[in-house]
Amino acid sequence: MPASPESGLGVARFFLGIACALLAAAAVAAEAIGVKPVQVSEHAWYVQGLPGPASAANQGYVSNAGFVVTPEGVVVIDALGTPALGRALLAAIRTVSDAPIRRVIVTHYHADHFYGLPAFKSAGAEIWAHRAAREYLDSAEAQSRLDQRRRVLAPWVNESTKLLVPDRWLDGDTSFVLGGLHFDLLYMGPAHAPDDMVVVLREDQVLFSGDIMFSGRIPFVGNADSRRWLAAMDDLLRLKPKAMVPGHGPVSREPAADLEFTRDYLDYLRAAMGKAAEDMTAFDEAYQQTNWDRYRNMPAFDAANRVNAYGTYLLMERESLQKK
Ligand SMILES: [Zn+2]
Repeated sequence: MPASPESGLGVARFFLGIACALLAAAAVAAEAIGVKPVQVSEHAWYVQGLPGPASAANQGYVSNAGFVVTPEGVVVIDALGTPALGRALLAAIRTVSDAPIRRVIVTHYHADHFYGLPAFKSAGAEIWAHRAAREYLDSAEAQSRLDQRRRVLAPWVNESTKLLVPDRWLDGDTSFVLGGLHFDLLYMGPAHAPDDMVVVLREDQVLFSGDIMFSGRIPFVGNADSRRWLAAMDDLLRLKPKAMVPGHGPVSREPAADLEFTRDYLDYLRAAMGKAAEDMTAFDEAYQQTNWDRYRNMPAFDAANRVNAYGTYLLMERESLQKK
């Protein structure tokens, strides 16, 4: 028997009800996970994500975002890792300031830093990122990362989650003044990512480093250029920031000391995998032979360490070929 129009409507209402409940659950959950603004300096704030890899338990809240409040509007640095977290970040900013959100600077297009952009786009902000992100956005890698996030972070990342393209592409270092405050956007890539940008708030001597600095977890290295990344850390220290807001982990008041962890990890990977590449030891064997005890108990070790070692092994092969 064909369904009556009433029962068709009933079914539609039923599914609409489920969809609304899911959306409401996602919105509530993002608040429950605790996106709380922490003041860094007179004008600068950040929110600190949880230490592990993205999972249903942490709802993808695994990275930091920052914002700067000026008399003429708010500048946001990164947008967190799901659309719901983007909304939660916007709500957190609204507890500090009602000023318009003028722009979002994306430090790099990795999933945990930009999937929250739609909330800011809807709020009228302009999205700025380095032009090198374009290649990533067009890549199969970006699509497979989105598929992975849809699996791991459902329902917060789902079929309607879109990868937002910047409104303005940056070609290198850029500065601007807003509300009397000076912002320097410095291109550091390719280091952690091809499109690494850091943001310096000159008046407060606060530096938002993106993922050039990690703390409290195993960094995500993947196919990063760790040689350039190490050099980028030296460049950041030369700027003598009073405070550095990393992409992951707590704000640093002693950047030189706190960068040591990221530096040591990259040096260790490069030394172990560099020797293996030089000796033409196969990767699996080299990975087995390396003593990982100093990092084994850190958050994200299981999710990231082997991928990091493999990416570094390939990089060291390329570097050793360049030398020959
Ligand atoms: Zn990253």
